[in-house]
Amino acid sequence: MAKLYYDGDADLSVLSGKTVAVMGYGNQGSAQAQNLHDSGIDVVVGLREGGKSWSKAKSDGLKVSAIEDATEKADIIHMLVPDEVQSQVYEASIKPYLSEGKVLGFSHGFNITFGWIKPPEDIDLIMVAPKGPGYMVRQLYKEGFGVPALIAVEQDFSGKAKEIALAMAKAMKFTKPGVLETTFYEETTSDLFGEQVVLCGGVSELIKAGFETLVEKGYQPEIAYFECLHELKLITDLIQQGGMGFMWQMVSNTAEFGGRTRGSRIISAATKAEMKKIWEEIEAGKFAAEWRKESEDGMKFLNEQRAKEKEEQIEVVGRRIRALFQTAR
Ligand code: NAP
Ligand code: MG
Repeated sequence: MAKLYYDGDADLSVLSGKTVAVMGYGNQGSAQAQNLHDSGIDVVVGLREGGKSWSKAKSDGLKVSAIEDATEKADIIHMLVPDEVQSQVYEASIKPYLSEGKVLGFSHGFNITFGWIKPPEDIDLIMVAPKGPGYMVRQLYKEGFGVPALIAVEQDFSGKAKEIALAMAKAMKFTKPGVLETTFYEETTSDLFGEQVVLCGGVSELIKAGFETLVEKGYQPEIAYFECLHELKLITDLIQQGGMGFMWQMVSNTAEFGGRTRGSRIISAATKAEMKKIWEEIEAGKFAAEWRKESEDGMKFLNEQRAKEKEEQIEVVGRRIRALFQTAR
């Protein structure tokens, strides 16, 4: 059984007198920087001058510096710029100022696992990775209870790397629900696998295929939207709350019988075989190489897909329905 760490396992005083530089002020950076700051930690936000985030971090009452200066000032450098730019930012603005004994932190192990960033041996290398989007990291903190998180130690130069990771987690209230220990490799590859096959890739294709099938059979798109997209959350909430058994218990016997006899025809042995191939691509670094190329190509594929999907029927219908429901409230 994996061990969970709670408030009592972490000591905030490990961070007293230390400065944390949070690099980036986007989804995670803004949430984590504000949480650390509100917990009394000395935080400086590291950003590029002239970027959009600079004035936002300032108006939120945080100290802001260029990434180079923030690295120089800080004891702990927490990398929260997007994964695909981290290695450039690291090489140009962090590496030259990363002196012995500093701590380099991440919320996703991608750049370390795939060797895009190769840090020196005389620093600590830690991960504090909340299992939730930035807005929830911030909102739950304000409500007094954080999101769960993972921590990992890849390099322990100081002999205190794990205590530091736990203290960072505690300062952001992740140790309230609980923190699990993992490795950079395990976090990175499982995170990529999960988002590709289940959470983002798998779910969106499942929804679209169901929607399109009903529409092709002549159903009103609004009905297909409700059935295949809107109701998904009700089901996943039940599963999250009490597991599969609870979900089956809360739906009708008809739904349970239909689901138990038909589900495995949709997600079949062939689907699982494909999942294994996707895992192998992740593990071999093939996915990482593809992603690097896409980012070097200026996100050509992603931009095309974003524009194309916006005009797909499910998105057009969804925008209309969601707007109607909001005005009706
Ligand atoms: P994000 O919102 O896309 O980050 C945007 C921030 O990075 C902005 O402040 C932006 O500043 C800055 N930035 C972008 N490019 C830059 C560059 N070339 N040089 C300097 N600053 C730059 O990123 P994110 O989604 O929070 O992800 C950050 C990390 O958290 C990643 O490792 C990610 O895997 C991890 N993570 C994210 C989530 C999530 O909820 N999204 C969840 C778990 C883990 P400007 O205003 O100047 O552009
Ligand atoms: Mg994830």
